Amino acid sequence: MKIKKLLNLIHAYMDLLLAREKPCAFPVELSLGTTSFCNLKCIHCPREGSDGNLVPFDEHLDMDYFREFQPYLERAKDIYLYGLGEPMIDNRYFEKVRYVASFGGNVGLSSNGTLLDEKRCREVVLSGIKGIGISLDASSEEVFRIVRPPGGLPKIIENIKRLESIKKEYNSVTPIVKLSFGIMRQNLHDLPFFPDVAEELHCNEIIVHPIVYMSEKMKRDSEVDRDQLTQVVEETREKTEAKGIIFSYWDLDPMTFLKSLDYAKTIQQNHVGWVEQSETHHDVTEKQKKTKKSYFCFFLWRNAMVQGKGEVFPCCYITNMRVGKIQNGNLRELRGRPLMASLRKDLFEGNPPAPCAKCPQLQPFDRWTILKSAIKEMYHFL
Ligand code: SF4
Ligand code: SF4
Repeated sequence: MKIKKLLNLIHAYMDLLLAREKPCAFPVELSLGTTSFCNLKCIHCPREGSDGNLVPFDEHLDMDYFREFQPYLERAKDIYLYGLGEPMIDNRYFEKVRYVASFGGNVGLSSNGTLLDEKRCREVVLSGIKGIGISLDASSEEVFRIVRPPGGLPKIIENIKRLESIKKEYNSVTPIVKLSFGIMRQNLHDLPFFPDVAEELHCNEIIVHPIVYMSEKMKRDSEVDRDQLTQVVEETREKTEAKGIIFSYWDLDPMTFLKSLDYAKTIQQNHVGWVEQSETHHDVTEKQKKTKKSYFCFFLWRNAMVQGKGEVFPCCYITNMRVGKIQNGNLRELRGRPLMASLRKDLFEGNPPAPCAKCPQLQPFDRWTILKSAIKEMYHFL
């Protein structure tokens, strides 16, 4: 199995180095949603109040669905089993995790932490999960209850401590726990206390990012003054690093979703394929226009975002433009469709479309840097 993964990784880098608009490799990273049920009602949740058409379905996906991904699971290096719901609501979730982990990839999951009881904590440690992301978006119950109703931060903290103690019991360093904080107007003042929560939970990395507005209403309700945000983020970064904790800041453009929604509508209205899009759809900065540098994003070349019952999206930010639906395992074909190929072409030709223009995943296309990244990744893989 490892050799398949290695060969696929080499293929993926070849795709990128040769700037192929239609990758030959299978996805190196695979994101698979498992359920859309949730027990919280977060005010920023994409499941509700979204202006776009996300992935409505109300069921836990069954094992047969996951079996269809076998050729992909054999080749993917990292598999993320999460989507728009709380995976642990599904009583058979760990059966799926074990199946996916049996192919040898690094399995990661994301959870709201509410259901991590003793049994589930043991499952998390024993089923081969390498990493778990827990979104808190608050440092105090008072703020948690506002942004993640109906609340319950003290119980989640207790659950994370339980997970850490069960890891110790099994002498296991995995899963590595990362806590995240999505910034909005309602919780910005609570961010500087987040490093204290991480310290209490012996967590060695926190991820901080602005939330992405899923609707105009959410933008009106939650928009943060940019200068204030920068000041609070920097204050939190200093405090975090002083405690020896890694501070990762994803400088997301909060407008990504709304921009991609506009972009998708324009495409539908014009009844034209992505390839024929005019430059007017591109939100290219003046600097980018002058230099016409080539860009790329790892997501487009080596990741596959599959949500709902097999709906494929370009990436986790552009979730209102469906590339298509998986049928008979045709994920590779879907990734090569004109919509995806032309998005890659746009980046490569220095014309990032609106949703990509300020995306932190966007990188200058530089073969030497990519080659160094390939050597480093293969060295770690072996
Ligand atoms: S925990 Fe996640 S899926 Fe559940 S309501 Fe909150 S944001 Fe939505
Ligand atoms: S650069 Fe574009 S395609 Fe890539 S992750 Fe960002 S929004 Fe998605």
